[in-house]
Amino acid sequence: MPAPCIACGHEAAAPLLDLGDIPASGVFLESPDQAPATVRLAYAFCPVCGLIRQRGAPAETAYAGADRATARRQFAYVHDLLRRTAALAPPGDGLVLDVGANDGAFLDLAARAGYRRRLGVEPSRACAAACAARGHAVVAAPLDRDTAAGIRREHGPAAIVFCRHTIEHVADPLGLLEAAAACLAPDGLLVLETPHAAWPVAGLRVHELWQEHLFVFHPANLARLLDRAGLAVVAAEAYRHDGTFDQVFWARPGLAARPDTPPAFLEACRALGGRFAAFAAGLRHRAAGWPRPVAAMGAAHVQAHFLLFTGLGAVVDHILDDDPRKRGRWLPVPRPVPVIGTAEGIARAPATLLETAFAYPDWTRQVREGLGSAAVAVDPYAGVAWDPDGAGRKP
Ligand SMILES: [Zn+2]
Repeated sequence: MPAPCIACGHEAAAPLLDLGDIPASGVFLESPDQAPATVRLAYAFCPVCGLIRQRGAPAETAYAGADRATARRQFAYVHDLLRRTAALAPPGDGLVLDVGANDGAFLDLAARAGYRRRLGVEPSRACAAACAARGHAVVAAPLDRDTAAGIRREHGPAAIVFCRHTIEHVADPLGLLEAAAACLAPDGLLVLETPHAAWPVAGLRVHELWQEHLFVFHPANLARLLDRAGLAVVAAEAYRHDGTFDQVFWARPGLAARPDTPPAFLEACRALGGRFAAFAAGLRHRAAGWPRPVAAMGAAHVQAHFLLFTGLGAVVDHILDDDPRKRGRWLPVPRPVPVIGTAEGIARAPATLLETAFAYPDWTRQVREGLGSAAVAVDPYAGVAWDPDGAGRKP
């Protein structure tokens, strides 16, 4: 018997999407003969509030041993996020926590904004060390009830808890929010940032679903979950940025309304399997006419998933990526495709360029210009119309 929905308590879940057995993300092969480890990836959604969660009993990634201190870029909207935060909780000597502080890049920005007492909370030992090396105080642990109590004892209540791109990764999002609430002063502020569910569900960016995302939130069910943790939403924003669609909530201790999820979003969840299958079939049909060889851009999990879920991995001859940990290896999509650097990729003169560098438009332009008119450029999402529904505006 599945556990009830953590946001609304509804007992039954409905299937959202079954992506089958796929190579584990982040796995690069040393040779094309190697067989990658696989994981089962499937999602369900709550038919009442639309909360999306991974099916089965997915294990939370063991971040303690993970080393990816350079993995997260700071998007341009982070400055708007800090500006709006400062309007609600002005810089000064109040304690500022960054939960999932990674390498401390965001704490650098908080320092520059004038927040003088800062503390990173980061479960990855390697990231915590990188954060400390940048001069920030760090607690090298996940944020849970015990960590929260320890922080309060040692540092006092927090004026702000930032929790950016962390809640979707944890097995107990309510526990994380309760721990964040336990850190806050009575007039403290939680700043919560997470991917917006409309991006995969309405925008068909299904590649954003991956094994490390255990939950995907719509603003309505996130507000309900915050309420369950004793936090009331005071402001919310959706940020459309290159290749992403994120949402930010500002919340304070207190009780608030529990908004209903728009019926159109629930309908989009029900329709997603069929819509994505038709989208992928259309791409495969077009791919049959693409001149070879075909190069795709990027070897991160989003591109691997895009190639796997659409089936386009079968027609790609090279994948461009300049990351030295990926270049020279093979990415299983699911057949092994060699990963080569940008310069080599341009030199090999692919006849079709698959524009899958979703978050990197400048890189896409650079490669397209390098290839000139010799290659056909394909933007797979050109012409995908969508309504973010619930985000409040069309991106
Ligand atoms: Zn629910």
